[in-house]
Amino acid sequence: MSKNFTPQKFIVCCALPYANGGQHLGHLAGAYLPGDIFTRYKRMQGHDVHFLCGTDEHGAAITFKALEEKITPRQVVDKYHKIIKDGLTACDIHFDIFSRTTHPCHIKRSQEIFLNLHKKNLLEQKTEMRLHCSSCNQFLPDRYVMGTCPSCKATGARGDQCEKCGVWYEPEALIDPICQLCKKNKAALKETSHWYLKLNELEPKIRSWLESKTEWRKNVLGYAFQPLKSELTSRAITRDLEWGVPVPLPNSDGKVLYVWFDAPIGYISASEDWSIELGKPDHWRTYWEDKNAKLVHFIGKDNIIFHTVVWPAVLMGDERYILPDMVCGNEFLNLEGEKFSTSRNYALWINETLEIVPVDLLRYYLTAISPESSDSNFSWDEYQSKINTELADIIGNLINRTLTFINKNFDGQIGPENATADSSIEKFINETVKEYSSQLDEGYSKFALNAVTDLGRKLNVYFQEQAPWKTRKEDPLKAHNSLYSTCVGIKAVALLLYPICPGIAQRIWTQLGFAESIMEPIMEPINELINKVPFSEITNFRFPKGHKASVDIVPIVTKVEDDFITSQKEILKSKVKS
Ligand SMILES: [Zn+2]
Ligand SMILES: [Zn+2]
Repeated sequence: MSKNFTPQKFIVCCALPYANGGQHLGHLAGAYLPGDIFTRYKRMQGHDVHFLCGTDEHGAAITFKALEEKITPRQVVDKYHKIIKDGLTACDIHFDIFSRTTHPCHIKRSQEIFLNLHKKNLLEQKTEMRLHCSSCNQFLPDRYVMGTCPSCKATGARGDQCEKCGVWYEPEALIDPICQLCKKNKAALKETSHWYLKLNELEPKIRSWLESKTEWRKNVLGYAFQPLKSELTSRAITRDLEWGVPVPLPNSDGKVLYVWFDAPIGYISASEDWSIELGKPDHWRTYWEDKNAKLVHFIGKDNIIFHTVVWPAVLMGDERYILPDMVCGNEFLNLEGEKFSTSRNYALWINETLEIVPVDLLRYYLTAISPESSDSNFSWDEYQSKINTELADIIGNLINRTLTFINKNFDGQIGPENATADSSIEKFINETVKEYSSQLDEGYSKFALNAVTDLGRKLNVYFQEQAPWKTRKEDPLKAHNSLYSTCVGIKAVALLLYPICPGIAQRIWTQLGFAESIMEPIMEPINELINKVPFSEITNFRFPKGHKASVDIVPIVTKVEDDFITSQKEILKSKVKS
């Protein structure tokens, strides 16, 4: 590490999943995997990264699931929090904390931010007519009603959006709205009052802040400026519901914070939860209140407007915490050319996929097709070809032939005494690191991976040109030197692969003969991963004196068979509900 290196503080947040169902590969590729790769990369460089996530456990999405499964909302969130957490852990995604928005510190923090905005006169109360069921004695927000679409007149339209024509509206706009709790009573308008966030007053600040973000991704800026084409209007932040964070003001019985308002505060409260576990309850402030720390969000495109306009507006109004520095909003992943569909079970769920695909191969392929700049597609055929022709044929084969040759002809000695790497190899590695870093610094993992496989290709060509199997007889020193150079390249490949597929990186590392691990997982009290080998080792074109390769050289991956691919395509077809 260079002497003038200054560690940068980062808070890396992945979108908070709703605790009302499992997660599929689209979620993994869109937010959690790229967030984990970015975190590992920055930690390798020696930066101080706080990596967090948690489940979003409030709102009608939860209460409806409870009605559907005939259990309580509490049972719903307990069940799915565990399923989601276990799935992400199995994907080798290790957050400092995977919290939940029903945690007491979240309730407290959300109420405190609400009151701060209230004190600053950024909230206004409006009296309005909202749908209510007299038989259930309850107000009916969002999906609690169904009726006829006010736009296309389709029947069975949901309270917030018509699935037929796609139009969004307030539930009060529905024609013949029917209560979805009793499924029979016609909902009627009843007076109630709600709190609104004055987005209109915050608009000039939001606009000039966004205008300063010229380096952000084009797709992110495109979404961000959409709502700013017209004037922003104030937005309701409370609902008449029992399940949620209670509104902390007098005469607010039966009112809770609207889930969109409390959910992102979950990023801050997850840090608090972590700090409490660490036994340093104020530690989170050293990130969220440090003006030099960088807040980075990894989210899907459906969440972009929210994270570039609404959430920053809350933070700007509150004025105590840092604003997003980078919003990595990814496009969608499709499956064999079609959209994932939870209701039709047209999906590859994380848990079931990991039963048939090794985690590192899944991470490798999802990174290779990461939907970073446009929608992308998961296909079993392409999975097979990426694993077999890139990972096995290019990288795996390079490692296998080089180390086997060294073991057979040079007793495992990576290089002769005082060996140095060829300048061409140093140049390849320097160029790769430059490209890789410039991509990952912006949160693009797909192009970073491309740079690594390109390096693998170049090393194969180099090995072929050097032909140590020929030079071994006429000039053994030359042969040994070229093998040393190839190993310097392989060492770089291992370290560059580490953020993307840590298990494979470790396997290469061990075969190169290093006894210590690339990283050291510290499991208590939190799953923090500490890199033992710094990023700068990639451009240290040397091996320790007398270094020997491992005697156990085995393929780093097993090739994917045709039969497996054929059967996976059939399984996917057979499980879809029509
Ligand atoms: Zn419609
Ligand atoms: Zn009812």
